[in-house]
Amino acid sequence: MENILIWAVVIILVLIIVLPYIINERKSRKADHARKKEAVFLGADRTIAQHPQIDALKCIGCGACVEACPEGSVLGIVSGKAVIINGLKCVGHGLCEEACPVEGIKVGLGDVSKRDDIPVMDEYQQTNIPGIFIAGELGGLALIKNAITQGSKVVDYIAKNLTPSTHSSINDVLVIGAGPAGLSAALTAKKNNLSFQIFDQQAAGGTILQYPRKKLVMTKPVEIPLYGKLTKPEYRKEELLDIWKQIENKFEIKTVIGEKLQDIKKENGHFEIVTQNGITKAQTVVLALGRRGTPRKLNVPGEGQAKVMYKLMDAETYQDNHILVVGGGDSAIEAAMGLAHQPGNTVTLSYRKDKFFRIKSRNDQRVNKMIKEKKLKVIFQSTVKEIGESDIILNYPEKEVKIKNDYVFIFAGGEPPFGLLKKMGIKFGGGG
Ligand SMILES: Cc1cc2nc3c(=O)[nH]c(=O)nc-3n(C[C@H](O)[C@H](O)[C@H](O)COP(=O)(O)OP(=O)(O)OC[C@H]3O[C@@H](n4cnc5c(N)ncnc54)[C@H](O)[C@@H]3O)c2cc1C
Repeated sequence: MENILIWAVVIILVLIIVLPYIINERKSRKADHARKKEAVFLGADRTIAQHPQIDALKCIGCGACVEACPEGSVLGIVSGKAVIINGLKCVGHGLCEEACPVEGIKVGLGDVSKRDDIPVMDEYQQTNIPGIFIAGELGGLALIKNAITQGSKVVDYIAKNLTPSTHSSINDVLVIGAGPAGLSAALTAKKNNLSFQIFDQQAAGGTILQYPRKKLVMTKPVEIPLYGKLTKPEYRKEELLDIWKQIENKFEIKTVIGEKLQDIKKENGHFEIVTQNGITKAQTVVLALGRRGTPRKLNVPGEGQAKVMYKLMDAETYQDNHILVVGGGDSAIEAAMGLAHQPGNTVTLSYRKDKFFRIKSRNDQRVNKMIKEKKLKVIFQSTVKEIGESDIILNYPEKEVKIKNDYVFIFAGGEPPFGLLKKMGIKFGGGG
């Protein structure tokens, strides 16, 4: 009798502890399955640079990789195996690889010979056009540490092999892109006494500028040329940008902003780099353009106005305004929520689809709460027709609405630079 009682208690305890776990697991796997289906349908499962490559034969479906990913929602478990769900979110930290107990994940580029988004390069990151080099994430390898290391490696190689030009109008190096790779390339040019310029279509800082406010940036120890080591495992976004600023001031690295690369031609032994502002000459070119591309435009009347922006730096700057945010991804939703929290703002989010599909579950919950509390208005299945000075016209299915407007924030993704580079004759894997 006593034995039966003990067994009954044990079984009840096991049920109390294990059953909720099993139910939760099943729920989360079902959700992963649905998310995967939607992501495939909408192309969000594709990857940007290096990404987890899962060996399905080794994977035991334990979910350790899913838990380990600091960016969230990249991986999920479908039919008992790890799969990539939101590949666009992968930035290549590699923590899934470390967490896998059966060595079933490798974070890498896969077979680059078949990837028409990876430029063909030699061991010094030189493209098929001698004198044009690639540094940073554009080459396929993400992470700040890799970008910094490549930027300096490329320019050290250039310094060793370049015969300096006798014409003062021809730079030894032109660096295009002022993210971590471009900055490191510029510092290395300075260290080697090369004449150089650094251009960016937007501002110095690169993708780091696009991170959400106060984001914890994970870094591995890395030597920044001339400056010294970044040693902490984590920095706040603002802290990192501050270091960038100090470096620019101390070593007089002046990024020429608003210079968008349009073409590169070879003329009389040097390169002529074409931007919308004219032609700059250089003996060598370092392309440090990243892979996130130029912000995608809506191409609607009125988009050229100063009140239309493609990133939000600081929500607190905008108060007592009528604001439209366009987009349905995490960036759009985080911006809309940040702006809606500021006093006096009326924020409308316009999204062309009928629901959000690829957002973090935390954002999903928060945005729905704000919609219910009427702090944020979301208009699904709508597109912007026209942006006026103080209003905006939105198209719904079969109707049109005019709303008051002071600012517009557009988060419609980016156009990667691959097409532009291919047009210049730079070869990509897969024969592109
Ligand atoms: C949300 C998010 C979180 C991340 N978190 C981390 C993290 O915690 N730790 C980490 O190590 N990495 C992280 N990363 C990855 C990291 O930001 C990138 O790998 C790194 O910034 C790549 O540096 P880069 O210099 O190669 O390119 P980028 O930083 O992308 O810089 C490229 C620059 O080129 C410019 N450019 C592009 N096209 C042109 C053109 N045609 N003409 C002129 N200029 C042009 C751009 O304006 C940009 O300034 C994260 C990425 C994202 C998106």
